[in-house]
Parts: sequence; structure tokens; C-alpha cells
Amino acid sequence: MAAIGSEIERLIQLLSKLPGLGPRSARRAALVLLKKRDTMMEPLAAALRDASRAIRDCEICGNLDTVSPCAICADSRRDSHVLCVVEDVADLWALERAGVFRGRYHVLGGALSALDGVTPEKLNVAALSERVKGDNGSGGIDEVILAMNATVEGQTTAHYLMDTLAASGVKVTRLAHGVPVGGELDYLDEGTLSAAFKARRAL
Ligand SMILES: [Zn+2]
Repeated sequence: MAAIGSEIERLIQLLSKLPGLGPRSARRAALVLLKKRDTMMEPLAAALRDASRAIRDCEICGNLDTVSPCAICADSRRDSHVLCVVEDVADLWALERAGVFRGRYHVLGGALSALDGVTPEKLNVAALSERVKGDNGSGGIDEVILAMNATVEGQTTAHYLMDTLAASGVKVTRLAHGVPVGGELDYLDEGTLSAAFKARRAL
């Protein structure tokens, strides 16, 4: 890469670390930025700097916001008796986009994985137990919804949390797995079909 200046090389290297961007996409992205310095690169650089300075982790739920407690934790119109546990902030965003949940969240910061060395201590689990027990004054939780991904790690995490929360006596539920909206049975993988079959309901 001798033909490329070291600043550009560094830009490409950093961009290629973003999810979904390999070296080739990173080079293309860098080129777009360099060609549109006034309209793309400078505003992006400013937005990155502003976000980096302003965004913090919510001390209660682990969500990202400019304030802590975050807007969701601070919103008194939301139901404080129901807690939805998610792996990542992206999952919280997805549920908020769907507009199906009006309670509060708890972001774990990942899922348990023996392979990657992710133990309960590395996740936001202790704070969850505290919230459910109400030791920090935010108790009164009636239901904990485990909204983990339908992956091996996600389901391992859900089982672990079910065991952890069992002693608290709080109602623990989890998302149904099954046929996606608009999905055709013929196109489903065996795992999804089998989960949907097991989770069938009386009508
Ligand atoms: Zn929060």
C-alpha cells in the first residue's frame, strides 16, 4: 500500500474494523469520504467527536444516551414493574422501533459464551439481580421478560438468568420462537420449525 498516504491507510484500517465492512468496502467508503470532504467527511468527523463526548452508559439499565439515567429510565409514563432484558443496545432499539413494549430495559452487554470467555461476571448480571431484588430502591418488579437472541449463546444466557432469578420469586417470561410474520413453512429451517411446533398454542 505504498502508493497510499499513511493517513488514508489509517482511515481505511479503522473503517475496515466496522461490522459489515471488509477491506474492500472500507477502501470504497474511505474514497467516498475523501471525495466529499465538505459534505461527508467533515460532518461525519464532527458527529463522531460530538457523540464520543456526549454519549454515556445509563447507570441503571446500560442503555446509551446523553444523560444517565437514560430517557427511558427517567420516563415516568413507562411501566416500572416490567423489565425487558436484552443482550445489546441494538436489541433495545429494535424493540423500541417495534413499539411493542412500554416498560423498562436492562442491557446485559452481550451473551454468555464459554468459547469467547464471556462469563456472567463480564455481563451486567449482578445489577439485574439487584434491580429485581430492589436493593437500589427501584424494586417492585413484577415481570422480567428475557428477550435474548435465538442463538445458542442467547438461549444459554436465558437459562442462566432463569436460574439466577428463580429465587427472587419474580415472574420470568421469554419471547416466543416460531414462524416469522410473512414466513412460509416450506422455507423455514428445521430448528425454527421445531421451536414453533413445540410452542404451539390452543386457539
Ligand atoms: Zn436507562
